Amino acid sequence: MPPNNMPDTTTRCCVVGGGPAGMMLGFLLARAGIDVVVLEKHTDFLRDFRGDTVHPSTMQVMHELGILDAFLTRPHSEIRTIGVRIGDTFLQVADFSHLPTKAKFIAFIPQWDFLDFLTEQANRFPTFRLMMRTEATDLIREGDQMIGVRARGPDGMLDIHAQLMIACDGRHSTLRDAAGFGVVEIGAPMDVLWLRLSKHATDPAQTLGRIDAGRVFIMLDRNDYWQCAFVIPKGGIDEVHARGLDAFRAEIVRLASFLQDRVHELTNWDDVKLLTVAVNRLNTWFRPGLLCIGDAAHAMSPVGGVGINLAIQDAVATANILVPRLTRGQVTLDDLRAVQRRRAWPTRMTQRLQVAVQNRIISNVLRSNATPTPPFAARLLGRFALLRRLPARIIGMGFRPEHIRH
Ligand SMILES: Cc1cc2nc3c(=O)[nH]c(=O)nc-3n(C[C@H](O)[C@H](O)[C@H](O)COP(=O)(O)OP(=O)(O)OC[C@H]3O[C@@H](n4cnc5c(N)ncnc54)[C@H](O)[C@@H]3O)c2cc1C
Repeated sequence: MPPNNMPDTTTRCCVVGGGPAGMMLGFLLARAGIDVVVLEKHTDFLRDFRGDTVHPSTMQVMHELGILDAFLTRPHSEIRTIGVRIGDTFLQVADFSHLPTKAKFIAFIPQWDFLDFLTEQANRFPTFRLMMRTEATDLIREGDQMIGVRARGPDGMLDIHAQLMIACDGRHSTLRDAAGFGVVEIGAPMDVLWLRLSKHATDPAQTLGRIDAGRVFIMLDRNDYWQCAFVIPKGGIDEVHARGLDAFRAEIVRLASFLQDRVHELTNWDDVKLLTVAVNRLNTWFRPGLLCIGDAAHAMSPVGGVGINLAIQDAVATANILVPRLTRGQVTLDDLRAVQRRRAWPTRMTQRLQVAVQNRIISNVLRSNATPTPPFAARLLGRFALLRRLPARIIGMGFRPEHIRH
């Protein structure tokens, strides 16, 4: 019995975490008629640090579900190519317009809007239940078997019993810690400072990346403001603070001079949030009665902005494999192993590529005071339009795109 005798809840599947992985999975299970409860510890989805990209393969999934048109009526911006300024040279490096998908672009939409949309779709099904302000604090066990989740809700503690728990609670997953999973830390040489600056009608068209002496700066178009990521060496925040806010503003202007008239919007360090970058993965994604997916199974680097997409693909594969089991009988360890087997390879390949970019490009740039020149591969991409289809495919669709099976 939970500590303050709150009524228990029983469900077929308890999904912990209402991020991209959890909300998509909740939706897919409810759509298949499976009783599912999704727990989300926050009151709403409004958090600034969330990534904003919805990739072609995610939109393909939505197309297969018949909800893409509705999704695209929400305010969003579309990018069909990715450009990067390296030193003084501007290069196009990816072109999505030839992908074999319905949507041949990346949609930029604040993640809270995307999650609201998934919630709205999931709410159409009576077997879906989202419990906001409800934080999982521990697993409930019977021998080796996980049989439920203990959670803190708005009215106190409660127990949720389920045949299967799915941890979608992100890179600091409570469930994965509670189950004692070993995490393989791959590491990242950088952290990110996250800030916003207003956008003016006269601003240049969107350039995604600016790489200059010792600096990497990303600007994401959020219609009425720029969401900016200023990449610093890992653990370098004290040094940035020591140089002072004026020096930081000047660095931004050096990278994007048109921001000169508004860097004063950064009035103190509270306007600049530190996001610690982690890259890691679990060796084993499951225990009896418990499966981890999304960042809970593998924290992704922001390189390529593919974490949301991978989380969604994990959710689709999980539903494809587990829906028949959850509908008809017990979920076995072999079923959970099948999910890991399906998704571990694209995860490893994506992380390998991210780590290569981190170590070969980003680290070198952050260490150097010289104006960088584009590496050979980037020059080739800039020169030959056909080659730009390859990065577009890897970023836009991933190594193993999933499709709706049920
Ligand atoms: C700086 C930075 C920028 C990034 N930019 C991008 C980008 O542009 N595009 C992109 O695709 N990816 C980006 N990523 C990666 C991306 O954010 C993640 O890979 C993706 O959000 C993972 O989705 P998820 O559903 O697995 O986990 P999350 O998005 O982390 O969602 C987990 C959810 O679980 C909830 N939760 C946590 N603990 C509990 C608990 N105990 N009980 C209940 N609820 C809980 C959280 O509140 C959260 O809502 C970025 C990452 C970083 C660090």
